[in-house]
Amino acid sequence: MADARTCSLCGVTIKQNALGDQVIFSYGPPGTRSKLWSRVCKFVGDRPGCINQDVSSVGAVQPGDEYEPFPDGQPKP
Ligand SMILES: [Zn+2]
Repeated sequence: MADARTCSLCGVTIKQNALGDQVIFSYGPPGTRSKLWSRVCKFVGDRPGCINQDVSSVGAVQPGDEYEPFPDGQPKP
């Protein structure tokens, strides 16, 4: 019974889930709304149409939400 919405501006799908919404990125593992916001939606905040701008839904940004080009375990240049 999961409901899914796609952000027309960011192109990312948000699956609504009783345990917490799950964001389906175009690549990589699913994440949270705060992760989506940190990586995508905060950069489009001044344009209308983004469905992930509601602070109460996004919640607090967690460590690791922001984009890390070289996460731990990945080879660094
Ligand atoms: Zn968005």
